[in-house]
Amino acid sequence: MSNTEIQTGEQPPGGAFRDMPIKRKLMVIVMATTTAALIVAGAGVVWFDSLVFRDYLQRDLSVLGRIIADASAAALAFDDPKTAAETLAALQARTHLRSACIYRIEGPLFASYARSGEAVKCPQAAPADRVRWTPDELMVARTIRLQDRELGTLAFFYDLDEIGRRRNSYSAIVLCVLVASGFLAFLLSSRLRAVIATPIAQLVNATSAVSRTKDYSIRARKLSADELGVLADAVNDMLAGIQSRDRELREALADREQALNDARNARDSLATTLASIGDAVISTDAEGRILFLNPVAESLMRWPAAEAVGKPIEDVFRIVNEYTRETVESPVRRVLREGAIVGLANSTMLLARDGTEIPIDDSGAPIRDRDGTILGTVLVFRDVTARRRAEETSHLLAAIVESSDEAIISANLNGIVMSWNRGAERIFGYSAEEMIGRSISVMAPPGRVDEMIAILARIRSGERIEELQTLRRARHGGLVNVSLTVSPLRDASGAVVGVSKIARDITERVRSAERLALLNADLQRSNQRLASSNEDLERFAFIASHDLQEPLRMITTYSQLLARNYPDALDGNAGMCVRNIMESAQRMRELIADLLAYTEITARQDEPVEAVDLNGVVEKAMQNLKASIDETGAVVTCDPLPSLTAREAHFLPLFQNLIGNAIKYRGEQPPRIHISARDVEGQLQFSVKDNGIGIDPQYHERIFVAFKRLHGKKIPGTGIGLAICQRVLERYGGRIWVESQVGEGATFLFTLPDMAAQKARRA
Ligand code: ADP
Repeated sequence: MSNTEIQTGEQPPGGAFRDMPIKRKLMVIVMATTTAALIVAGAGVVWFDSLVFRDYLQRDLSVLGRIIADASAAALAFDDPKTAAETLAALQARTHLRSACIYRIEGPLFASYARSGEAVKCPQAAPADRVRWTPDELMVARTIRLQDRELGTLAFFYDLDEIGRRRNSYSAIVLCVLVASGFLAFLLSSRLRAVIATPIAQLVNATSAVSRTKDYSIRARKLSADELGVLADAVNDMLAGIQSRDRELREALADREQALNDARNARDSLATTLASIGDAVISTDAEGRILFLNPVAESLMRWPAAEAVGKPIEDVFRIVNEYTRETVESPVRRVLREGAIVGLANSTMLLARDGTEIPIDDSGAPIRDRDGTILGTVLVFRDVTARRRAEETSHLLAAIVESSDEAIISANLNGIVMSWNRGAERIFGYSAEEMIGRSISVMAPPGRVDEMIAILARIRSGERIEELQTLRRARHGGLVNVSLTVSPLRDASGAVVGVSKIARDITERVRSAERLALLNADLQRSNQRLASSNEDLERFAFIASHDLQEPLRMITTYSQLLARNYPDALDGNAGMCVRNIMESAQRMRELIADLLAYTEITARQDEPVEAVDLNGVVEKAMQNLKASIDETGAVVTCDPLPSLTAREAHFLPLFQNLIGNAIKYRGEQPPRIHISARDVEGQLQFSVKDNGIGIDPQYHERIFVAFKRLHGKKIPGTGIGLAICQRVLERYGGRIWVESQVGEGATFLFTLPDMAAQKARRA
C-alpha cells in the first residue's frame, strides 16, 4: 500500500530551520516577527519624521524668508546694504543656516550673511528656482517686495545635518525599542511557546513511545481544545484504530499460525500415513502430472520419486489388460474427464520400469477445492499377487476338497459340523445341508460315542491322530469301515478352535485285505512247495550231471577204442556213425560240465569263503585259455584288481567265460581285451571290454538266459557261460549287463557291493 501525504498550505522553509525543534522554531518565529515588525515600524517612524521635518523646515524657512524679505525691503529700496546686512545678522540664532544672500532685482549680490566662522558662499546671481533640495543642503528663495514692487531676491542656504542627526537619534531610539521589545518578546514567547510546544511534545512522546514499544494502548494527553487538541484526538483515534486493528491482526495471525500448525500437523501425519500404509499412492495435478508418490508406489513401479515427479502419469504408471495385453487408460485421465471416483477392472497388470508385471487393484479420485474445481487426482493401488495367489490356492483347495473321494469334514470343538464335502456325502449318505450345524456324534455306531469324545479331547490338547481305523454309521444305518486322520484346526494365534477329519472308506480295502491274507497264506504254501521242488530239481540236475559224466566217459572211451582197434571193420557209414557218437559225446561232456558248473554255484552254499586275489584269478583264466590266446594272437590287458572275500571257484569261471567269449566272438582284427575295476557309488564295478563283433542291443538281456546263443554251431559253445556269470553275481549281490553295438565290440560290466557290504550281508 502506498503512503498518501496530504499537502496543507505553504511548504515550510528548508535548511537548518526545518530540522529545528519546534520550541526553538516558535522562538525564532516570534523573535523574527517581532524584530521585523519593529524594524518596519521604526523605519516608518524615521521616514515619516524625516518627511514631516523637511516639510516643516521648508515652511519655516519660507516664513523666515518672508520676514527677512519684508525686513530688508526698505534697505533694498533705499540701497542700504549695511542695514540689510544687519537684518541678515539676526539670523545668527539659526545655527543650521549656513548662508543668506540678498540680490538686487537686477541680479548682483546686495548683502550676504555667513554662519560665524564660515566664508560667505553666495552664488553670483540669484537662484532661478524657489526651493532646491540637495543631499546636504536646502535652498529656499523669496522675492523681496515693497508694495507689490519686486526689489530683489533673498536666498537661504540651510545645511541638512540636523536631519541626519534626527535620523540617528530616532534610529537609536528604535534600536532600543527593538532590543527592549525583543527581550520582552523572548520572555513572553518563552512562557507562551509552552502552550503550543507542550501539546506537540506530548504527541511526539506518545507516538514515539508507541513506535518504540508497539504498545498501541498508549494515548496522547489532550491539553487544549485548539488544533493541537484536535490533533491529539485524531492521533488517539488513530491509535485506537491501530490498536483494534493490531488486536484483530494478532488474532488473525494467531488464527493463521494455528491454521498453519494444523495444516503442518495434518501434512506431517498425512505424510507419515502415506509412507506407512501398505497401498501405493500417487497424486497428480489437473494436467495429470505426478506431484507425489509414496515409498510403496516407488518400489512397485521401480520409479524413484525424484525422477517421477513432474512426469505425465502415463509415462510412469503403465497398465495393460492382463489377457488382451492392450494398454488400459490411466484412471487419472478418467477421473479428470468424468470428475468421479473410478476403479479398475480385475485384470489390470502394472508394467514396472524394469519390465516386471504386477497384478494390481486400484482406484482414482478427484481432489477438489472449496468451489468444487478439480485441482488434481489421487490414485491408490496395491499389489494383489499375494491375494490372487491366496484366492487361487483357496479355490484350488476348495476344489480339491470337493473333488476328493475321501470325506473331509470340519467341526468345532463341541463336535458341531461346520463343513461337509461331497466325499463325506458319498461315504456317509448325509448331505451337507443335513449335517452342517449338527453334532458329528450322529455317525457314532453303538458303543463308539466314547471313542469320539476321546478323539475330541486329544485334538483339544493339540494332538493329531493318524490313520485310525474304526467304524462309523452311515445314513442308511449300515456301518462303514473308515481310516481317520484327525487334526486340530488352529486360529491365527495358534489356539485350537476346531477339528478337521479326513475319513477314507476302507470297507473294500478291509475286505480285500482279508481276501489277500487268505491268498497270501495260499501263496506261501505254494512257494514253500515250489522252493522245495526247486531244490529237488537243482539237486537232481547236479546229481544227474555228475552221474551222467561216468557213462558218458565210458561211451567216449569205447567209441575211441572201437575207432582205433577196428578201423577196417568199420566201413564208411559205420566209421561216420562212430565219429558222430564221439563228437556228440564230447559235446554232451561239455554241456554236462557247464551244467555242473552252473548248478554247483548254488548247490554248495556252505563251502567256506577265502581271500581271493582277482589278479591271480584273471591270470589263471588266461592260463586256461592260453591255446586260444596264442592261436588268435589275442592281447589281454588288465588294470590292478582288488581282492575279494569269496570263492575262487566262482570268479574263475566268471572271468574265463568273459575273456573266452571276447576271443571267441572276435572280429577281423586280433582280439584286444581290457579288464578294469573302479569304485562307482560305493560299489565295485568291473568291465571286460573287447573289439569283437559286438551284440545287437535287442539281445542284450536274452544272452544271459541259459542255453541262449546267437551264433548257432558256427562258433562252438553251450550257451551257459553268461548264465553262469549271472548266477555268480546274483549270489554275491551284484549284477551283470552288456553295452554293445553290432561291429563295435562289447563291454561286459558287472558290479559287486563293496567288501563291508559283503561282510554285512554274509553275517
Ligand atoms: P556260448 O558262448 O557258449 O554260446 P555264452 O552264454 O557264453 O554261451 O554266450 C551266449 C551268447 O552271447 C553267445 O552265443 C554269443 O552269441 C553271445 N556273446 C557272448 N559273449 C560275446 C562277445 N564278447 N561278443 C559277441 N557276442 C557274445
